[in-house]
Amino acid sequence: MLCKIIPEKCIACGLCQLKAPDVFDYYDNGIVRFKDSEQLEVNFKDPLPEEILTAYQKCPTRAIELKK
Ligand code: SF4
Repeated sequence: MLCKIIPEKCIACGLCQLKAPDVFDYYDNGIVRFKDSEQLEVNFKDPLPEEILTAYQKCPTRAIELKK
């Protein structure tokens, strides 16, 4: 499944990194990035790790998108 982050929508709340610290990280200004990639999209093998789904659901601004 494709996981996409949209930095323009991110309000630097920190929730996604709290829920999925192995996947999400932040730039110095608090805006989300992937921990292991500078890209805005990362493809994860199914089944999608539960922590990513939780981060997706908790993001208050929908700055994280999941696509098949
Ligand atoms: S949960 Fe959403 S708004 Fe909060 S830091 Fe992560 S991407 Fe940004």
